[in-house]
Amino acid sequence: MPATPQSPVVVVGGGFGGLFTALALAEQPAHRPILLIEPRERFLFLPLLYELLSHELRSWEIAPRYDALLAGRGVAWLQDRVTRVDTSGHLIHTAAGRQIAYSQVVIASGSSTESFGVPGVAEHALSFRSLEDVQRLQALITTLQQRQRPLQRLAVVGGGASGVELACKLADEVKGSALVELLEQGPQLLPGAKAFNREQALLALQRRDVRVRTRAAVSAVGADHLLIGPQAERLTVDAVIWTAGIRAQPPCLDPHAPHDARGRLLCEQDLRVQGVEDVFALGDVAALDDAEGQPHASNAQVAFQQASCLAANLMAGQRGEPLKTFKFQDLGEMMSLGRGDACLTAAGLTLAGRAAFELRKLAYLTRLPGRSHRVKVAAGWLAHW
Ligand SMILES: Cc1cc2nc3c(=O)[nH]c(=O)nc-3n(C[C@H](O)[C@H](O)[C@H](O)COP(=O)(O)OP(=O)(O)OC[C@H]3O[C@@H](n4cnc5c(N)ncnc54)[C@H](O)[C@@H]3O)c2cc1C
Repeated sequence: MPATPQSPVVVVGGGFGGLFTALALAEQPAHRPILLIEPRERFLFLPLLYELLSHELRSWEIAPRYDALLAGRGVAWLQDRVTRVDTSGHLIHTAAGRQIAYSQVVIASGSSTESFGVPGVAEHALSFRSLEDVQRLQALITTLQQRQRPLQRLAVVGGGASGVELACKLADEVKGSALVELLEQGPQLLPGAKAFNREQALLALQRRDVRVRTRAAVSAVGADHLLIGPQAERLTVDAVIWTAGIRAQPPCLDPHAPHDARGRLLCEQDLRVQGVEDVFALGDVAALDDAEGQPHASNAQVAFQQASCLAANLMAGQRGEPLKTFKFQDLGEMMSLGRGDACLTAAGLTLAGRAAFELRKLAYLTRLPGRSHRVKVAAGWLAHW
């Protein structure tokens, strides 16, 4: 069926950007039908994935099912994957062979792990982005604990927030049955982090005997080893977890839309994809600069804030009104640093340790999607407490 103004607004991807855009749009009066296309059964609150690994949280808490989240919310969910967006015909093509006409489309398909062409990453390294990744890592931890061979070693590659947070949690989970190594190709860990958080993170790594190597560029990953630097120093490992980078994964836009070097769609400051009518993007898949000309970071805080701006712009676009420029408000930074441990810098406050851990959990509780889900999770935490 050809696209008409009453065709749905189609949201591609139900992560932070997509799900929260769909929910915000559904709250607007007189909105068009909304269709969310997402292949997974569950939304995944990625910042709390570390606590799932350590069993401090349960999967139903951080990964609610879309059918439960969206019931009665005015958003239809199609479990499918978008393969192509025909932007001149206003038509979406999906992996299951569907063709869906849209009036406006939101690309929110996020990112995946970037190997930077390092051989062996795809075949041998684990990633840390999904429920399946958590299960694989939990099984590995159990194996390491039961096997108790001398000199067992886990290597986490990438000294950004994900690598540091994961290294701390892993060190606590393996409880001395394996050494955790953290490798970063640059001169320091967490280059973009707030100073207090960086300091606390380094202390947390030290307390857990995580062996940190900076200026250690991994050049190859094998089944039981990795190679480091121009001399190809060989490090024997039981597993490698790759957190070194991300690459945007937009579906194919036809005709082609401009990308940056990380595969992100170039966007205007109002979140329209450059040069393409009725196509918007946000989150990890969107490249846009702030008012100072600096690129917005790829993180949940940005995606979350973009979602409400985009919902308003979709409505403004439908009414033929001018669109708003996205303005990011830095609400601070929080990091998970092992079992019952975290740090945060926000609203002039710095905090570390157990109190920061609890405050971080509470702050994220307010960000979980769906009021009834939040209430259920809060009730569970209170009962446990
Ligand atoms: C382990 C981990 C911890 C993190 N911790 C933090 C943190 O503490 N703070 C922070 O701000 N950020 C954090 N981030 C980053 C943050 O989670 C991402 O920046 C954020 O999720 C981006 O939102 P998004 O909507 O762009 O993508 P995502 O949330 O990744 O969602 C993309 C969705 O699109 C779906 N999809 C993909 N391709 C298609 C397709 N072709 N068709 C339909 N659907 C598709 C995917 O299944 C997925 O559900 C973390 C990331 C990870 C991996």
